[in-house]
Amino acid sequence: MRRLLLALPFTLLPLAATQAAEDEHAHEHEHAEHSSLAAHEHGAAQLNVALDGNTLELALESPTMNIVGFEHAAVSASDQAAAAKAKQQLQDPLALFSIAPGADCSVTKLEVASLVFAAATAATKNASEHSDVDADYALTCNHPEQLQGIDLSELFKRFPATQKIQVQLIGPKGQQGSELSPANPRLKF
Ligand SMILES: [Zn+2]
Repeated sequence: MRRLLLALPFTLLPLAATQAAEDEHAHEHEHAEHSSLAAHEHGAAQLNVALDGNTLELALESPTMNIVGFEHAAVSASDQAAAAKAKQQLQDPLALFSIAPGADCSVTKLEVASLVFAAATAATKNASEHSDVDADYALTCNHPEQLQGIDLSELFKRFPATQKIQVQLIGPKGQQGSELSPANPRLKF
């Protein structure tokens, strides 16, 4: 399943490429001292989506700031509670991505990872670097024809610090890319 997304040649559209270059430029100034994460801009995230037959794959990569509100290891009780709540919300892709009930999808792969979700260790407690959330999902759908597209309105609602998501989507009609936002949360296959 992982192989499918990795094998697809995601080519950015000219507009998106220009935007990405601008974002990276801004980011270099903003985070000049943090070189470990090259494309990390708070408020922005990336989502790759592929629908192939009965299988819908989604891969979300977001600065942890957008999801949890901080990026360091969760040490205090309130940080741990915030991290646990965010993780729980990420572990429900059917709701998070507003998957049409008529598509009759079940979750066959669910991997949610971030430094923030790991137990704090001596090494991570004092880390001041940025961190990301990586969430990978695969769904198997009995009626994939009922999937009209991708709807991120619930994701934007759950994680309001997320202002824009660069989406690369591959569906029955081919590949498309778009930047979705709370005001424009949907993209059709
Ligand atoms: Zn950051």
